Amino acid sequence: MIVKVDRWNPDGKAIKSAATVLSAGGLVAFPTETVYGLGANGLDGRAVSSIFQAKGRPSDNPLILHFGDIQDVSKVAIVDERAMGIMDSFWPGPLTLVLPAKDNVPKEVTAGLNTVGVRMPSHPVALALLQACDFPVAAPSANASGRPSPTDADTVASDLGDKVDVILDGGATDLGLESTVLDVTGERPVLLRPGGFPVEALVELLGPISLPKGELELKRSPGTRYRHYAPILPMRLFFDDKPIPVERGERWAFVGFSQPPFGASRSIVFTDLDSYGRGLFAAMRELEKLPIDVIIAQWPDDKGIGLAIRDRLTRAAGME
Ligand code: AMP
Ligand code: MG
Repeated sequence: MIVKVDRWNPDGKAIKSAATVLSAGGLVAFPTETVYGLGANGLDGRAVSSIFQAKGRPSDNPLILHFGDIQDVSKVAIVDERAMGIMDSFWPGPLTLVLPAKDNVPKEVTAGLNTVGVRMPSHPVALALLQACDFPVAAPSANASGRPSPTDADTVASDLGDKVDVILDGGATDLGLESTVLDVTGERPVLLRPGGFPVEALVELLGPISLPKGELELKRSPGTRYRHYAPILPMRLFFDDKPIPVERGERWAFVGFSQPPFGASRSIVFTDLDSYGRGLFAAMRELEKLPIDVIIAQWPDDKGIGLAIRDRLTRAAGME
């Protein structure tokens, strides 16, 4: 069931009844400032398993717990002074912290790790829902596993249909890419996934941040192992200083931020990188419906949101 809610002033009754569905073990999809999430009661292992079933998500890929209040995080995770400082500075927002988990977090959430990902989103609908719940809400993106994340409610419905009890429709999401995931369990923070929150701001507050490399970190962030965010059609990357990577006779469409060279069947051109990030997943889903052979996506600069766009493009193109 899709329930329309005013993004800036969500109807209290709609929020309350969605919270009741969650507390009874059901699934609620809701907008956040990143993408739509598929939520379940994060302290109820059975409810959390139904997220994995609905999405077809591999069970070794942990979920993020979402909070409406910073104070509640310490009920499920060990929060030291540095973690508290980061939350105070940057929450609510598109930044997930990986912290040492407490014993009450179900193994379905952590995928058996001894850490847990936590975030407080800033979207008014997400915040209202989370504040109406007396438990954290586990929520991955509300798409079928492997597909581009949904940035509107209709896309959630087309991917998950009646596997979800309620879809709160608060319009299109703001950032269009998932949160930045930062592991702060060790001495030096590790960037597990670039996302909607700029790494530059983290470095400014925290000093140097490591990038995940080697076996250890790969094991820590299982979600980054899979081909992900992918359209049905093959996708290839276009680097400005190289020719368009298409063979003779191939039909192609283009998505990027400057006019493509001649020959695309269709082009989606965003005016800047923020709009590219916001519209990328929807563009993939639109272009894959065309009678073409391949989607060509333009490779951006790595500043700001560009780093997250690079990450999603690399994995959509199956290059990692
Ligand atoms: P999604 O919710 O689909 O955007 O994916 C959540 C991302 O956060 C995935 O890349 C997960 O692997 C990562 N994640 C969640 N919890 C943890 C954790 N405890 N340790 C490392 N990565 C995590
Ligand atoms: Mg996802």
